[in-house]
Amino acid sequence: MSPAARKSGAAPDFIRGIIAGDRARGRHDGRVGTRFPPEPNGFLHIGHAKSIVLNFGVAAENGGTCFLRYDDTNPAKEEQLYVDAIARDVEWLGYRWSGRRRFASDHFERLYEFAETLIRRGKAYVDSLSAEEMRALRGTLETPGTESPWRDRSVEENLDLFRRMRAGEFADGAHVLRARIDMRSPNLNLRDPTLYRIRRLRHHRTGDDWCIYPMYDFAHALSDAIEGITHSLCTLEFEDHRPLYDWCVRESRAEFVPRQIEFARLNVSYTVLSKRRLLRLVEEGVVSGWDDPRMPTIAGLRRRGAPPAAIRAFCDRVGVAKRDSTVDVALLEYAIREELNRTSRRFLGVLDPVRLVVENFPEDRVETFTAVNNPEDPGAGTREIPFTRELFIERGDFLEEAPRKWFRLSPGREVRLRAAWLVTCTGFTKDADGRLTEVRCRLDPASRGGSAPDGRRVRGTLHWVSARHAVPVEVRLYDRLFRTEDPGRDGDLFADLNPDSMTTVRGQAEPAVRDLGPGDRIQFERLGYFVCDPVDSVAGQPVLNRTVTLRDAWARIRKRQRR
Ligand code: ATP
Ligand code: MG
Repeated sequence: MSPAARKSGAAPDFIRGIIAGDRARGRHDGRVGTRFPPEPNGFLHIGHAKSIVLNFGVAAENGGTCFLRYDDTNPAKEEQLYVDAIARDVEWLGYRWSGRRRFASDHFERLYEFAETLIRRGKAYVDSLSAEEMRALRGTLETPGTESPWRDRSVEENLDLFRRMRAGEFADGAHVLRARIDMRSPNLNLRDPTLYRIRRLRHHRTGDDWCIYPMYDFAHALSDAIEGITHSLCTLEFEDHRPLYDWCVRESRAEFVPRQIEFARLNVSYTVLSKRRLLRLVEEGVVSGWDDPRMPTIAGLRRRGAPPAAIRAFCDRVGVAKRDSTVDVALLEYAIREELNRTSRRFLGVLDPVRLVVENFPEDRVETFTAVNNPEDPGAGTREIPFTRELFIERGDFLEEAPRKWFRLSPGREVRLRAAWLVTCTGFTKDADGRLTEVRCRLDPASRGGSAPDGRRVRGTLHWVSARHAVPVEVRLYDRLFRTEDPGRDGDLFADLNPDSMTTVRGQAEPAVRDLGPGDRIQFERLGYFVCDPVDSVAGQPVLNRTVTLRDAWARIRKRQRR
C-alpha cells in the first residue's frame, strides 16, 4: 500500500503543526519527505510502531514520501535476519515505503566525501588517543573537557591519515576521526564527537569494502540530507544531539538542509521496549523467540493475534507529544479488543470441559442450530452447530452449592444453552477424589432456539459443544510477560517476570474450527479472542493463542481517571 493510501486517524499535534507551517511558508516548495530509520539489530516493537505510524502518516497526509532507511552503520550487531523482519513488519502494519529500501550503507562513499570536506575545512581531525584517554579528557557535565594533543594536526596530515585509515593501514582503535567543535561546550555531544572509527568487520551489505564506519550522529544527519528528508522525526533523547545534527549538515556543506524534530518515545506499562533487553529475553530462552506471542514486538503481537488496524488505532490514540509518559498496556488491549469485536467470527469452544448430559434428549439424535457468526457484522453470515445428548460445558459454569446470584448451572437452576435450549440442572456426579465428572439436566421442549415460551426470565447463557462432534484443540492462554508495571526498575528484569504468562490447556471446540487457517482470528464466546497460531497449527488441528480476554480493564481505568 502506498503511503498516500493510508490516511491515519491521528489528531493534529505539534509535529503536524510545524509541518503545516513549513508548507505554508513554501519551505522545500511545500514538499514533505520523512523516513523511518531502524537499526537492523533486533525486531521492531510497539514503540517503533508509533514512529512508523507517525512518519508514514504524516507523509501520506501531505502527499509526501516516506522512506524505509536502515541505519546499518554498526556491522557488529546487525544481521540480514533483522533487515528482512523489519520490512515484513512495516508492510504488515499496512505501510509501503516510497521507492526501494534505503540503507545508510548506500551512502558510505558520499559520507566519506563529506568527512573529507570537514577535514579540508579544518572541521575534523584524526585523533590518535586511545579510547580511555579520550574518555578521560572528555570532562563531565560539571567540568569542561580538555583538547586532544592531536587536535591541531594540519589539514594535509589529517587527510593523509584519514585516507590511510580507509585503506586499512591501521589497526582497529589506532585512530578515529573527530569533529572539531568545542571541548568546553556544556553539551557533551559537541565535545569533538567521534565521526569515524576503524572496525575490521564484515558488513552485511558492503562486505569487506570498508574498515572504517561512520558514527550514528554523522551518518544519520547526512543520510537525511542526501535523501532530501524534509522532516527528520526522532525521539526525545536526541534533542541534545540536534546541535550536532545541524552542525554535521552545515559544516559538511550538504546542499539539502533537513530539520530534526523530537517527540516523546512510547513507554507501555508492564512492558519493556528496548531491543537490548528484548534480545536478552530471546537469548536466555525466557521466550521462544522474537515472535513469541508475549513479546511487545510487532512479530509477537501479530502471532498473538493483534490486527494491524488495532495497532495503528492504538498509536493514533496515544498521539504525539513532547513529554515522556507511560501508556497503560490496558489501552493497547482495548484497541485490540475493539477491532476484534468488529471483525472476528464467533465460535463456541470450551477450555476446561466437563460433560453435560441432557436426559430428555434421545441418544441418537443430532439437531442443528443456526448461530450468527458476528453480531457486529451481518455480512459475516451464520453457521450450523450440532446439538446432541452429550455436550461439553465449562467446568467453571457449574457450582454444587451456588449463591443466590449465580446465573449458571447448579442443581435446580435454569440456564440457556447458547442458540439452543433452556435447560435445568437435575444432578451431577463426582469421582472418588471429589472431582466433578458429569452434570445432568433436562431441556424445556418448548424453548427451542433458547427463549422461554412463557416469557420467564433466564439470565445465564452458557457456551457448549456437542461431545460427539467436538474437535480437541490446544489452547495457549497468554498473560502479561511481566508482573510489575515498570519491569526491571529494581535492577533485575528477570525477577519481574510473570511466572503464569503462558498456560496451555486442552479444549474442545465446535467442528468449524477445523477450517481455520493460520492467522485467522476468532472469538470464543464468553472467553476471549483467539488466533490460529501460524507456526504450530497443522491443517485440521488448530493451535489457538489467546489474544485478549473479554474483560475491559481500560474501561475501569478510564472511569477511575474521570473521577
Ligand atoms: P531501542 O531503544 O528499542 O533499541 P532504538 O531507538 O535504538 O530503540 P532504532 O532502530 O534506532 O531503535 O529506532 C528506529 C526509530 O524508531 C527511531 O527513529 C526511534 O526514535 C524510533 N523509536 C524507537 N523506540 C521508540 C519508542 N519507544 N517510541 C517511539 N519511537 C521509537
Ligand atoms: Mg537506536
